[in-house]
Amino acid sequence: MSLVVQKFGGSSVADVEKIKNVARRVVDSKKRIDHVVVVVSALGDTTDELVGLAAQISKLPPEREMDMLLSTGEQVSMALLAMALNELGQDAISMTGQQVEMLTDTGHTKAKIRHVGAERVIQELRKGRVVVVAGFQGVTSEGEITTLGRGGSDTTAVALAAALHADYCEIYTDVDGVFTADPRVVPEAHKLEQVSYTEMLEMAATGARVLQSRSVEYARNYNVPLHVRSSFNVGEGTWVKSEDDIMEKAIVSAVTHDFDEAKVTIVGVPDKPGVAASLFGGLADSNINVDMIIQNVSEQARTDISFTVSQDDIEKVRQVTEEIVSALGAEGSNFDDNIAKISVVGAGMRTHPGIAAGMFKTLAENDINIEMISTSPIKISCVVRRDDGEKAVKALHDHFGL
Ligand code: ADP
Ligand code: ASP
Ligand code: MG
Repeated sequence: MSLVVQKFGGSSVADVEKIKNVARRVVDSKKRIDHVVVVVSALGDTTDELVGLAAQISKLPPEREMDMLLSTGEQVSMALLAMALNELGQDAISMTGQQVEMLTDTGHTKAKIRHVGAERVIQELRKGRVVVVAGFQGVTSEGEITTLGRGGSDTTAVALAAALHADYCEIYTDVDGVFTADPRVVPEAHKLEQVSYTEMLEMAATGARVLQSRSVEYARNYNVPLHVRSSFNVGEGTWVKSEDDIMEKAIVSAVTHDFDEAKVTIVGVPDKPGVAASLFGGLADSNINVDMIIQNVSEQARTDISFTVSQDDIEKVRQVTEEIVSALGAEGSNFDDNIAKISVVGAGMRTHPGIAAGMFKTLAENDINIEMISTSPIKISCVVRRDDGEKAVKALHDHFGL
């Protein structure tokens, strides 16, 4: 018996015509595949609009209420798609995160999946129905509604694919696949035929938002092959799979960017044991992901610590850092959201020296100043001024011959 999970992102279900188009595609798939589960995002920019509404009411709304609000978006699209499928004569039923038992922890707005029951999904599939699931939402063991972080419908889809032992998971979006750079920034970027989980994870974590990084982590852990493809044409997209299954390994596979981070600097922190632990412990307790960290050389027993966080978290970060600054007796803090993080990712970097040097030289030749650097065995990231962001991506894409 074949079983496939298909996820359609916001741009694929942006209006009624597009929803009808998705329904036709699903019906078409159902002719070839025994069981089809569809995961949908909210229509178009609905989630951004809901975030905007909340921001007009409160700078720091209760996160539980944010989840109550944001989870409504996906409920609209799931019901409309189920109607469209029924209209085409395909028996279909929509289900919320709670109904598919998408159990999460209590980390509102960025909850992590603990368990996927999917009992009812299986029952409905056995009746020959297509099951349409609301992406992005889950439920805690206390029955509270949660969401999985921006882009979280990808993770809903992969988690269902793993729980249902699907043959693979298809991610339908508004580009033809995973590209060597964001095609909106680098028009010359080209589609990758295949990419390993490890590389895709680094790409997603450094800003290639075509897949949420948690979805890639999940896919790797449960060995779910992913097929990222366009919902507007039938062409083959990009397969994301295990490194062992990939023959050709590029030294550099992609250049990614993240324009949505902010740099926070805590100035004049006493240079003594335990300071970093209490600062980053406080941020972690508030469920804030910290990305890059730099501690400067200390002068007169005081030092500066800089780190980057998602701009979405900035109000929360402000609150936590204020408390920490006074608790630590630091001199103050400042926030800078005019930054861009640019990264070069490639599995071949492990065995080929000189990639970092090539990156720094290219940035220097383009008169771009580097403010922060971080590396992993297969990635190098630099923080630069936001105004230099696009220039940096284009120059690096060109330099590495992608
Ligand atoms: P969806 O609504 O389908 O989830 P997203 O907007 O989350 O779609 O993700 C698709 C977008 O990701 C594309 O429109 C593209 O601009 C962006 N993107 C960024 N980096 C890449 C990349 N390396 N390859 C493909 N798309 C990318
Ligand atoms: N609608 C949610 C968002 O915009 C989830 C998703 O699209 O994956 O982040
Ligand atoms: Mg997305």
